[in-house]
Amino acid sequence: MCRNMKKGIGVSKGIELGRALVYQTRAIALEGKTITISDVEDEKKRVDDAIQTALAEMSATLDEIDRATDATAADLMEIHMELTEDPMFVKKIYHYIEISLNTAPDAVLRAVDEMVAMFNALEDEYYAARALDIKDVGMRIAGILLGIKKADLSHLAENVIIFANDLTPSETITMDKEHVLGFVTHMGSRTSHTAILAKNMGIPAIVGADYDGVSDGDFVIIDGGTGDFIVDPSKEEIARYTELRRAFRENVARLKTLRDLPAVTPDGHQTQIFINIGEPKTAGKLDEVGATGIGLFRTEFMYMDATSAPTEEEQFAAYKEAAMRAKGRPVIIRTLDIGGDKKLSYLAMPEEENPFLGYRAIRFCLDNPEIFKTQLRAILRASAFGALEIMFPMICAMSELKRAKQLLAECKEELAAEGVAYNKDIRVGMMIEIPSVAAAADIFAREVDFFSVGTNDLCQYTLAVDRMNQKIANLYTPFNPGVLRLLRNTITEAHKAGIVVGMCGEMASDPAAAVLLLGMGLDEFSVSPSSVPY
Ligand code: PEP
Ligand code: MG
Repeated sequence: MCRNMKKGIGVSKGIELGRALVYQTRAIALEGKTITISDVEDEKKRVDDAIQTALAEMSATLDEIDRATDATAADLMEIHMELTEDPMFVKKIYHYIEISLNTAPDAVLRAVDEMVAMFNALEDEYYAARALDIKDVGMRIAGILLGIKKADLSHLAENVIIFANDLTPSETITMDKEHVLGFVTHMGSRTSHTAILAKNMGIPAIVGADYDGVSDGDFVIIDGGTGDFIVDPSKEEIARYTELRRAFRENVARLKTLRDLPAVTPDGHQTQIFINIGEPKTAGKLDEVGATGIGLFRTEFMYMDATSAPTEEEQFAAYKEAAMRAKGRPVIIRTLDIGGDKKLSYLAMPEEENPFLGYRAIRFCLDNPEIFKTQLRAILRASAFGALEIMFPMICAMSELKRAKQLLAECKEELAAEGVAYNKDIRVGMMIEIPSVAAAADIFAREVDFFSVGTNDLCQYTLAVDRMNQKIANLYTPFNPGVLRLLRNTITEAHKAGIVVGMCGEMASDPAAAVLLLGMGLDEFSVSPSSVPY
């Protein structure tokens, strides 16, 4: 390995050469240092200065927002500015400096924790949103104090390769896609949503990487297939990787020539290749890659790319667009799968010890029927324009499935009474993501039209291995016999009940898994568009 070559986990194939943009030099956490009494006034002055810098940054952002088209973003920025100067917040920061002798950044973080706990204790949606706002504000001030720079990834002037400690799914969604050539993160794993989004965007990405020593403007090469990246490469390396990039692109173009062939094995077994999408316009990729349907529309990304919950009309327009672009091919719309690593800034979500085992997906939706029914109505209305299907995520108990179906039936009745067109025979399926459900697949198969296996979650729950934790990534494998037995049981029982089984987790795009899954009888493979030609 050459001196400047480093390695992470390649999660989205492709090769790029370009300038680095270091988004965050490191995570913001308590330093645990203390000061002496003689430093108190200086530390308080540092806080005052950081607050002024934060206000100037926010006011510059506010000036750029066009209030006519984005009033919500402008309102939010104003709220953040108010919170930054909030006397109670500043008083608490001073308190930690004066009484606990904390450093300025630690005092800010502790004041934020205290305010978050206070807001959350009020158990009110408005204050829960303010808790998230104060966190954002606090991170900004602490970041300024620690010299941790955060660029605005949604507006970039030139092509860059981003290096970040972590990128949340919402940061990834709002990235300036024209200028981001690829990214490298310290956190994350193959099935983290940020990695999945990179695949959907068709750009190379590496996670679990130690990129210490990389600075803004460094020339870098990244290989999202092998996970290798090179900082300050030699002329020979630039020449070699330029050639590899050309060959990679040529191979993608060559594979495209196969796109209209049916997905049939040499012995005549027919299967379906579907794609996973996160926004309606990606449905247009069906033709480009030659897929026969959409096996997963992750609707939560639409909720995350907004400053308030999308309305029925907005969702209707999005689902209709997906249906129209699919031109009669099936589009499986998964209802809101929020929680876990997918958070909404504008919705009250509790702080949880184990968010992936907590208040997420169908659990959240059944507890918030207005939000759920708004989405179901929008899907039903759009079903008049194409072959839409509905899929419920994270079903754990039969009672959840029955309640979800009951709410769907209510929406159908309401629409019928209003004289609104919809497909009354819309197909309804569920995801198999929880081991107990995979083990009892025969019981659930009687209640739905199809299953789709979410191996990303099924693996983490079966193996007790957090899908986001790169430290234990070696244990995270769908080839574990326990996972394979659950898959076999799911497929066998579904077929006995006469329903089809797809797979929309990342396992479906692993060529090594394809033979095994075909042998088990999987009916449909749903993968990111960039994985179809592999
Ligand atoms: C899965 O769990 O495999 C899945 C497709 O859902 P998500 O990755 O969005 O959790
Ligand atoms: Mg899942």
